[in-house]
Amino acid sequence: CGIVAYIGEREAYPIVLKGLKRLEYRGYDSAGVALYGQQGLQVYKKKGKVSELEDFVAGKDASAHIAIGHTRWATHGEPSDRNSHPHKSQDGKLAMVHNGIIENYMQLKQELLNQGHTFQSDTDTEVLVHFIGEIKNSNHYSTEEAVRIALKRVVGAYVILIIDEDDPTTLIAARKGSPLVIGVGKGEHFLASDASPIVEYTKEVVYVNDYEIAIIRKDELILKNIANEIQSPYIQQLDIEL
Ligand code: GLU
Repeated sequence: CGIVAYIGEREAYPIVLKGLKRLEYRGYDSAGVALYGQQGLQVYKKKGKVSELEDFVAGKDASAHIAIGHTRWATHGEPSDRNSHPHKSQDGKLAMVHNGIIENYMQLKQELLNQGHTFQSDTDTEVLVHFIGEIKNSNHYSTEEAVRIALKRVVGAYVILIIDEDDPTTLIAARKGSPLVIGVGKGEHFLASDASPIVEYTKEVVYVNDYEIAIIRKDELILKNIANEIQSPYIQQLDIEL
């Protein structure tokens, strides 16, 4: 029921972990992170509390400058390690977290099964990341293009965050109906479901609108609408203290 991400010069995992703890009040049954470090794309996820995820990751490779995190409130598939987010595309290159519901996931799943996809979980989320990966690979699109095209077919509510193993200097985010705040720092960006994980780092935030896709690098934030038109980010000042 919450998402967090970081891209920049700092260690990403501790920031994302702390952010997930800040979002615990929203309720959840599982937690997970994906990060890109020295050993490539890593996914760690666990049913239970964020502290259990933390214990699970302790001692493992978690050094990274890009990470996404998730607390799950299960809607499709029971709470379990394998249904926890992040989920990966069929080729394993994309890792995605998602809050919300993909209402037409059954239809998309059937199409993907017909194309030879296999699934590790019972979630609607895994169907969407497979769908994005399929569009990307079969058309040689960029991840950003594939996300835009995939979302035109998606019915439902979502905020999604994606790390692409082939481009670990870029985070892709999109939303419709579920909240997404981007904190703008100096050479770094923070993403979350609400401002509470962000406020200690920066007071400058952008609230992403429905049907917008964000392409985020440490020192660049590009917003586009679903028609691929650039939108100028409206930076607001947070006036809350934590
Ligand atoms: N529908 C997704 C799932 O059940 C996401 C749930 C959520 O918003 O945490 O895995």
